[in-house]
Amino acid sequence: MTGTVLRGRVLTFVDVPQGVDDASSYRYFEDGAVFINEGKVIAVGDYHKANIAGATVIDHHPHLILPGLIDTHVHYPQMQVIGSYAGALLEWLNKYTFVEEQKFADKGHAERIASRFFDELIRHGTTTAAAYCSVHKVSAEAYFAEAARRNMLVVGGKVMMDRNAPEPLRDTPQSGYDETRDLIGAWHNRGRARYAITPRFAITSSPEQMEVAGTLAREFPDCYVQTHLSENLAEIELAKELYPNLGDYTGIYEHYDLLGPNTLLGHSIHLSHHEVELLAETKSVAVFCPTSNLFIGSGLFDFGRLRERGVRVAVATDVGGGTSYSMLKTLDEGYKVAQLRGQRLDPLTSFYLMTLGNARALSLEGTIGSIVPGADADLVVLDARATPHMALRMETVEALADELFLLQTCGDDRAVAEVYVAGKAMKNGVEEK
Ligand SMILES: [Zn+2]
Repeated sequence: MTGTVLRGRVLTFVDVPQGVDDASSYRYFEDGAVFINEGKVIAVGDYHKANIAGATVIDHHPHLILPGLIDTHVHYPQMQVIGSYAGALLEWLNKYTFVEEQKFADKGHAERIASRFFDELIRHGTTTAAAYCSVHKVSAEAYFAEAARRNMLVVGGKVMMDRNAPEPLRDTPQSGYDETRDLIGAWHNRGRARYAITPRFAITSSPEQMEVAGTLAREFPDCYVQTHLSENLAEIELAKELYPNLGDYTGIYEHYDLLGPNTLLGHSIHLSHHEVELLAETKSVAVFCPTSNLFIGSGLFDFGRLRERGVRVAVATDVGGGTSYSMLKTLDEGYKVAQLRGQRLDPLTSFYLMTLGNARALSLEGTIGSIVPGADADLVVLDARATPHMALRMETVEALADELFLLQTCGDDRAVAEVYVAGKAMKNGVEEK
């Protein structure tokens, strides 16, 4: 049989963990084998029971093999504003981000940063991202072209914004509509790419532009919609002032037909009871971005409340408001946000979220986020002994959940030993540029 067998400690989630002891939420093979061929997972199970005759075996012991990590909200044009010293959201946007994003009118710049962006994703074990590009069509073209070159499953979209931003960053309702349509035609479902209709947020889109965004969402129901919701108190006040007759912030997106199972709502922090009900009803996804929320001081996402009310929740870095490309670091900060809320975010749930949970949020279960026959072979190999202090701590770790918690608390790109994208080794398997 031709193909490759990855041998190692294989872990893949099958359902939402109901606590740190819930062994029914995952499948784990201490000496496991993932059989891959032509970019797909063919089989997974115990190494000694696997039929591996003729296959190339790559042994990753003692490391863990998991599905590739998924980032559901990130801004690739913000790589060079990460860690900018600012006050709250609106100052951060005006002082740094809206200046930086103007550079993406230049194709060469967009291509260079897109290439560096995917280098960082791979370095950190992330095989799928849902990214905002800048307002410029060329920035989305650079993003999708680079992802295609690496054969990565990505979601992305050109930002639509026609007000409350510097003139070079503004499109119009018509140009935003036309360019989005062109990009969907050129990229959506081409290879592994998916398109997200991307009105940046209610503040930077006029009612006319929100209207066309809703039209696009109806015309292309299998595209995603991504935007921002209720990140910061001043932002919420401004949004309500700009749309005085639509009740609350979530009501604005509801009014323009932008809520639904394919809608990713970055932040979703300060929500009323009515807004939470609306998210649950429409099956929209609330995206938790802990490093960003802490860094910009936006607030504490209420994971427990949203879960309880039946809202779909995803996790994301939100670079460059977020401060790390690492989904491990992201869930480390997510854990601390939960602690401050008096909630527990256990390590099984964290690793569920960055793999199967985020795949479900993108309605891509069975394709990415779990190691099952027929899935794309996007995988990450994690080393819990990657640094001297982690290796020392591992001497006292006994349970799998404790190892995951150590990886999350102390791990970063150094803990990512290898990354496979559609079956191809990308971190060490090919030279980095
Ligand atoms: Zn964002």
